[in-house]
Amino acid sequence: MGDPEADEKYPFDISPMYEGERIRKTDLYVELGGQNKPGFELVLFEPDPDKINDGAVSLIGPDLGEMLEGSAYAYAMIYKVYGEQIEEDLEAVIERRNHEYQGYIQGYMHLNQRSEIWVRISKETVKKGLKSLKQIGKATIMLFKAELPFIEKMEVTYVTDEDEVVRRLEEAKKIYEARDVKVRGLHDEDVDEFYQCTLCQSFAPTNVCVVTPDRTALCGAMNWFDSRAAARIDPEGPNAPIPKGECIDPIGGEYTGVDDAAVRLSGGEYDSIKLHSFLERPHTSCGCFEVAGFYIPEVDGIGWVHRGSKVSDTPIGLPFSSIASSVGGGKQVEGFLGIGVQYFYSPKFIQYDGGWRRVVWMASDLKERVGAAIPEEMRGKIATEKDVKNIEELREFLKKVDHPVVNGVTRDVDGAKITGGWAEAAVEAAEVVSPAEMGDAALGEAEPLTRVPITQMMASGVDAPVKLILKDADIRIGKIIVKRKGEK
Ligand code: SF4
Repeated sequence: MGDPEADEKYPFDISPMYEGERIRKTDLYVELGGQNKPGFELVLFEPDPDKINDGAVSLIGPDLGEMLEGSAYAYAMIYKVYGEQIEEDLEAVIERRNHEYQGYIQGYMHLNQRSEIWVRISKETVKKGLKSLKQIGKATIMLFKAELPFIEKMEVTYVTDEDEVVRRLEEAKKIYEARDVKVRGLHDEDVDEFYQCTLCQSFAPTNVCVVTPDRTALCGAMNWFDSRAAARIDPEGPNAPIPKGECIDPIGGEYTGVDDAAVRLSGGEYDSIKLHSFLERPHTSCGCFEVAGFYIPEVDGIGWVHRGSKVSDTPIGLPFSSIASSVGGGKQVEGFLGIGVQYFYSPKFIQYDGGWRRVVWMASDLKERVGAAIPEEMRGKIATEKDVKNIEELREFLKKVDHPVVNGVTRDVDGAKITGGWAEAAVEAAEVVSPAEMGDAALGEAEPLTRVPITQMMASGVDAPVKLILKDADIRIGKIIVKRKGEK
């Protein structure tokens, strides 16, 4: 094994064409971080250039050759940077680029951000000559300096010793928290510009990420201040400013400038985005969101589960991974939404749909983590996997705690009643369907009949399939007659 630090040629290809490369279990040499091991990435600005050993890469813990094939290890990537133009606000921006540049390395898969990083190294790359994480560190420094010339000095520390990763992770979390808190006093109406982010368009081409003071990036990696710092240093880059334009809808958070950006960035796929809406023209979601939200039609409420959640099943019977595949891909999916954890702290958190009054379920560890963001009167009304296992139990729970969705949600910001609630639905249904029309079904049923609102109906032609989504549906069928085609 030669000295990897002395190697001038890397034993792997480096090219943007490897961005989005996936390494499956069968091709895996080792996994670093991810679901089973702690991990994080952190960029720190060092104002004193003499305190950076430019180009140096150090490793604390076992290197690739000492790792067991097919196993998982803890992983921390810590980068110290210096540059005359660099300020602390740029730390998060530079940090987010680690995902992009490490994605250029063949046989090295980098996913997610902050304390959720997930890296896989392929057997093929190890066979080709990758011997040390220091080689990855060297290549990463080379890429950062080539792509971001304002970085004058850079030093890397990688850690694979699990105890050390856990210890340093606590420090990193304090730094992430300090960055997040900084933006909480600033609001969308206080600024003239928002910022776009196009970094994830390499794998989600129609994704339109808009970062505003009240809506931190859905990957959680960049807030409005970070994006502003990035735009100042590279105004034509991925974080270019979006002039707000006119406010069309202050509650939904719709601006002419954001709508123009939606058209431009999505290649015409979308022409309107409401920044603070869940169910109507929501923000798009690529694949990096920290938390996935899902509408639960049976209770007319919204549930949330986060990446890395230990909850195997949400009340709709799906884990995070399955929900994530419905949310992602740079799509505007009504009924699903990807967000960053910080958005829970926003006073405009899905305010178009009732904000916290519409939230009916959360994974317990997520609820605990953002507990301070939940209004006092809602804390006991939001179920977790410890309270309910399925929709039926969720309905019972919500009735018991008198959750707003049961009798109708009133939007705090404008006092509008935006949902009818189950009780009103039952009355409406009783008015629409007379007992005579219902026949036997009207007699002596224990469960009340509920309204059957058709929330979405699409018919694009005579022979086209019609898609119906029924909320709170109680369907009763007295008789079914099946006939062959043409039979009378
Ligand atoms: S999720 Fe959005 S804000 Fe975060 S890196 Fe991707 S495009 Fe940028």
